[in-house]
This record gives sequence, structure tokens and C-alpha cells, in this order.
Amino acid sequence: MTKVYFKAINSYSKTNEINAAAVHLLQTIEVKESVELNRFIPLKVHLGEKGNKTFIEPKNFEGIIDYLTERNIDTAFIETNVLYKGQRNTIKNHLRVAKEHGFTKIPVVIADGEVGEDYELVEIKKKHFDRCKIAGAIAKEKQIIVLSHFKGHALAGFGGAIKQLAMGCASKGGKLDQHANSIPKISRLKCKSCNTCAAKCPESAIIVDTKAKIDKNKCVGCASCMAICPYGAISNSWLASLTKSFNERLAEYAYAASKGKNNIYISFAFNITKNCDCEGHPMEPVAKDIGIFASTDPVAIDQACLDILDKNEGRIVFKRGRSTLEYAASIGLGSREYELIEL
Ligand code: SF4
Ligand code: SF4
Repeated sequence: MTKVYFKAINSYSKTNEINAAAVHLLQTIEVKESVELNRFIPLKVHLGEKGNKTFIEPKNFEGIIDYLTERNIDTAFIETNVLYKGQRNTIKNHLRVAKEHGFTKIPVVIADGEVGEDYELVEIKKKHFDRCKIAGAIAKEKQIIVLSHFKGHALAGFGGAIKQLAMGCASKGGKLDQHANSIPKISRLKCKSCNTCAAKCPESAIIVDTKAKIDKNKCVGCASCMAICPYGAISNSWLASLTKSFNERLAEYAYAASKGKNNIYISFAFNITKNCDCEGHPMEPVAKDIGIFASTDPVAIDQACLDILDKNEGRIVFKRGRSTLEYAASIGLGSREYELIEL
């Protein structure tokens, strides 16, 4: 049975105790699960939107970085651009936030290019997608340590390892696909006919006459235009994200992002907020801190986080999004059955 390793921490735990716990978990996965570490392993993180105060701060990853460095293993933080307008929608903006949030100990790689143009199509042949747009610098790696913050999420219900793989490793166009609307829409009201989008579109799919218009036959849904319109005139519809198939599309993208990789998943279940680290404002936790989980299975680790959270709180904390786990297990991403081993 899949094993999930766990180390409890609480709100009084000091940073050095958190680091020691994370390293202990990594070592345990390496030895007990016989995971060979590559010579270069990126650390998939969420850098936290500007103004967010509850993302997992990089000081909590220093133990893992030191452990890899001592083993002569190179590493870097890796992340992708977001779809929506914010402080992390281009490499330049993203690196500024990374610096402000203290991600300076190792290089930061924004994996899908300046505005999401760098991706590889990973074939999966599942119900919703034949191929998924995975960020170029992630698709080429054979191993990633996926460092997730377990917490709630406005659309997905909750966010952990699967969410970190699915949205976190997809290019902008891949994120757009998961929101079920691979062709952006342009607001005629907001468009100022400046031509910026047309000049940048890799498929020459935008024609600017009196207003910009997308040729649906040419558009490949890369979403680059959404990031660069200076007037915020290009967007997607979030409505389709409120359907059950959104959870299935997440699971399929997580499958694509981890396909062929010897990944290690480490999830930090503290600062458990109702919404995710993309929210650019402070939030209060909605549950007590739990600890750190580690596994080689993204489904098992998310299931374990949810189970222990509910057990600790005596209630179902995050009600929505559980169908993601059922569907993820059904397509072979991992197992909902697990053995929890407390260290
Ligand atoms: S970049 Fe924005 S404002 Fe400029 S033409 Fe394109 S849609 Fe219109
Ligand atoms: S119109 Fe389509 S192909 Fe062109 S930049 Fe926008 S999403 Fe990409």
C-alpha cells in the first residue's frame, strides 16, 4: 500500500524544527521508498501573491536545500506564470515578487517563458485532454520535489500536491485549458486597438481592425495575449471552473505534469487558510496547524492531508473538490488508499 510519512508540528514549532522535520521526511522517502535523487532537482514552489502573508515562506525550505547541496545536487525554485492579472503574470513581475518574498537562496526559474509561450505538449489521451500544455522547463525534467502548501482553494475546493502539479506546472495556455476555455475573449469596450497583442501572438491569430479580434481557427490557446494587454481587455471566463469537470481536468493536468517523473511530494499543512496563496491580501487560518507530509504519490498525500485535517478539527473542513481525488485515482495518478507512518 502507498505510504505517506508524517511529522507533526504546531504553531509553536520553530523554523529550525520545521526544517529538521522536512529533511527527515525527505531522507525517509529516499531510503524507505528507494528513490534515487538526480543530479539536478528543481523545487516546485508557490511564491505567494504580493500581499499574501500565509504562503509557505522560503526559510522553511532551507533544510531541504542544504541537504541537497551537501549531496552535490543542484537545485532551483521553479514556478509558472499565473493566468490572471496580478504581480506574477510575467517573468519580470514574478521575479520581483520572488525577491520580495525571500526566495533568494537558490535561482528562481519561471518555467513557461516571459508570458507563457514556452511549453511542451505532453500526450495523455484521457477523457478531457489528448495532450496537455506543460511548462517547458518542467516538462524536460525527470524529477521534481513538489513542495505544496495544503490549504483551501476558491475554485478547486482545496489545494495540495495535485493542484500544485496541475495548475502549478501548466503553462498559461494549460491553465486556460483547465478552466475549459482555451480561447480568450476580448472586451470591445476595453480594447484601445493598440496592437500589442497582435504583435506578440505567436500564431498571428489576432487581427486589429477597429478593435482586436481573435481568429479561433488560428488560436492555440497559449494565453500570452492575456498577460500583455496593457488595458486588461483580454480575459477568460471563470464560470466553467465551477463545474465538476473542472476537477477532472485538474486531475488530468496533474497526470500530465508528473508523467514519467520520479517525483517526491512534500506538503506543508500549516497556515491552513480558506483560500489559496494567489490571494494578494492577509487571511486568517481556518484550522489548527497539522504538520508536514511526504510521499511519492500525489493522490495519497492529498487524501492524507484531508483525512488528518478533518480528524483534528472534528468536521469536514473543505467540502468541495473531493471528486478530484476519485477521478485522479481512476486515471492512474495515484491511490486513495494509504498507510500513514508518523515519524
Ligand atoms: S493589447 Fe489589448 S487594447 Fe491593445 S489591441 Fe490587444 S486587446 Fe486591444
Ligand atoms: S490569440 Fe491565441 S495564440 Fe494568440 S496569443 Fe492569444 S491565446 Fe495565444
